[in-house]
Amino acid sequence: MTGFRTRFAPSPTGYLHLGHVASASYARAMAGPEGSFLIRIEDIDPQRCLPRFEQALREDLDWLGFGSALPVRRQSDDLKTYRSELARLHTMGLVYRCACSRAQVQAGTKGRAPDGSAVYGGSCRTARIGADTPHVWRLDMQRALAAIGHAPGWEEWSPHGRRAVSSRAAEFGDVVLGRRDNGVSYHLCVTVDDARQKITLVTRGADLFEASSVHRVLQTLLGYEAPLYAHHGLICDESGQKLSKRDGAESLRALRDKGYDARQIMVLARASLPDAPVIPVGRNVDR
Ligand code: GLU
Repeated sequence: MTGFRTRFAPSPTGYLHLGHVASASYARAMAGPEGSFLIRIEDIDPQRCLPRFEQALREDLDWLGFGSALPVRRQSDDLKTYRSELARLHTMGLVYRCACSRAQVQAGTKGRAPDGSAVYGGSCRTARIGADTPHVWRLDMQRALAAIGHAPGWEEWSPHGRRAVSSRAAEFGDVVLGRRDNGVSYHLCVTVDDARQKITLVTRGADLFEASSVHRVLQTLLGYEAPLYAHHGLICDESGQKLSKRDGAESLRALRDKGYDARQIMVLARASLPDAPVIPVGRNVDR
């Protein structure tokens, strides 16, 4: 096989900023001229993902020249697929219902997971919560790792070669695989989609590096192929904080209003991720 199959998977929770452009451009560059590049909209959070942001996201990506990777897979169109994969894990006896509120989870936490989230204390693990009680679904991490027989790590790409990364899955504890509102979660959906879309190289920001341990567990349990991973650096503001929609990072639209054209924005974004392979701006590698 020549070239990777990569994807850019934004969530429409705000307007795109330079960090997104860098990430999309990195994914497309990593696909290489022989590979393929897909866009996926990760919109499973009904509170935060808004139609106007999705519309803007599609327009902005098209304006930047990513249009040939559209139309896209949209997670909210296919919740049943994720739920049926969760049902498979249920059949294996590896997930359970948890009725704890956010405050209860915080109060009973066993500390911080590698991604900074609270590790669940486990009070519902043997509680037999009924279907009528509002609940999330959690993975029983210890059982899952015992079922696999080891904690699966992954291969990380870098410009200096590939390296093996050891799993930190056990430190995450019982992560949520099904949210209270729609029965699915980021960890579940991203894993299912990367497999369904036959992604061979998962590229994303370094802030999601640790989550890969959880995804490798799910891939192994569900019988999916292991992709290669490449986590790129993050674009930070003057105070060293990652650009984020929530903290009001300057949107692409604001840059456009200031007179930047698409080519200039692509050059700026690429320059901020020096590890990405260089392909001429404007060259179309989509398939
Ligand atoms: N949808 C995630 C985000 O916007 C990225 C998912 C991924 O690349 O794994 O942060």
